[in-house]
Amino acid sequence: MALAAIRDALSTDPARVGLFFDLDGTLAEIVDDPETVVPISGVTERIARLGERLGRVAVVSGRPVSFLERFFAPPVELSGLYGLEHRSGPRVLVDSAALEWLPVMSQTADRARVAFGLDAVEDKRYSLTIHYRGADEGRADEVVRWVEQVAIETGLDARVAKMSVELHPPTTRSKGDAVEDMLGGIDVAMYCGDDVGDLPAFRRLAELHDAGVLRDYAVILVAGDETSPLMYDHATETIDHPSAMLGVLDGFLDALES
Ligand SMILES: [Mg+2]
Repeated sequence: MALAAIRDALSTDPARVGLFFDLDGTLAEIVDDPETVVPISGVTERIARLGERLGRVAVVSGRPVSFLERFFAPPVELSGLYGLEHRSGPRVLVDSAALEWLPVMSQTADRARVAFGLDAVEDKRYSLTIHYRGADEGRADEVVRWVEQVAIETGLDARVAKMSVELHPPTTRSKGDAVEDMLGGIDVAMYCGDDVGDLPAFRRLAELHDAGVLRDYAVILVAGDETSPLMYDHATETIDHPSAMLGVLDGFLDALES
């Protein structure tokens, strides 16, 4: 079992282990209002303890770093906006390609607020999410069509996510790139995620293992009713709710002490 390999590495050489976690749907339950998302009780403390002992512990999210910072302090690293932002220690670095697209993102956010209302639009500055959770099917189609049209007009990238559609600068950065950039000195890695935005990271760990860069790896899928079938093909383990991450993290902390 891949998780056993992670625990073995934690008990023998924790400085060479990297753990990477998505936030929404993985460390936190998905809720109707994305602004109110908080990690499952007990998760933040466990991640912090692991962060002090391991080679690398990071949260890798589509959210901006400014949101992730509410819950995770250094030495836990933060990758925001699918790898466009990175916080290591006190510094936050932004991908230069994303900066060039700021004016277009800002104008597009204004247009989205006019079209769908303040509550539906999550403005992440360097990207934009339009939510339709709780809305009727007609609204979903309307949002998707609007985003596709705006993507053609502006050159922004449209990405479908859970009950939402996102617009991003047309960079090729992904969570896979974000994780690979954080693997210096790491030879055993784990990634946990729940959504199609996590797939590039799922695939990247397998590729780096095949290439001999990683000695061992694990991929945990937090699966639910909305999970894309593609996700299962790339997971080494499946859990059914973010609260099950507590047991996984406790197993890691126990391994560190053994
Ligand atoms: Mg997620």
